[in-house]
Amino acid sequence: KQADAGVPTIFDKILSKEIPATVVYEDDKVLAFRDINPQAPTHIVIIPKNRDGLTQLSKAEERHKDILGHLMYTATLVAKQLGLDDGFRLVINDGVKGCQSVYHLHLHLLGGRQMKWPPG
Ligand code: 5GP
Repeated sequence: KQADAGVPTIFDKILSKEIPATVVYEDDKVLAFRDINPQAPTHIVIIPKNRDGLTQLSKAEERHKDILGHLMYTATLVAKQLGLDDGFRLVINDGVKGCQSVYHLHLHLLGGRQMKWPPG
């Protein structure tokens, strides 16, 4: 499904602590937590705390460039913190054909097993 810019998602409930999550990293701009349905031994979801219209990557505007860089840099910090020294994968699912299910921009950080390419 596609979503409106203002519609709350499950990630708002994680941000407000209404729903518990296993947080692995946090700063003033981003939150990283373990995916509830992991697709790898390590599967972390990294989100901006302020969605600011970023329901999905394809909605990005000029003002989002800093947070987009911050999210990707955060992935490198979390990968180091969790010992993904032999490599990892970052995924952003965008829209219906990208299999996006939660319309609050997020990076998937996957590691701890050998990945395959192409992903399918
Ligand atoms: P998407 O399919 O939109 O790219 O990714 C959404 C991700 O959020 C999925 O991998 C899904 O397992 C995860 N997710 C959905 N609901 C929850 C939840 O309540 N807690 C956590 N930790 N992850 C969730």
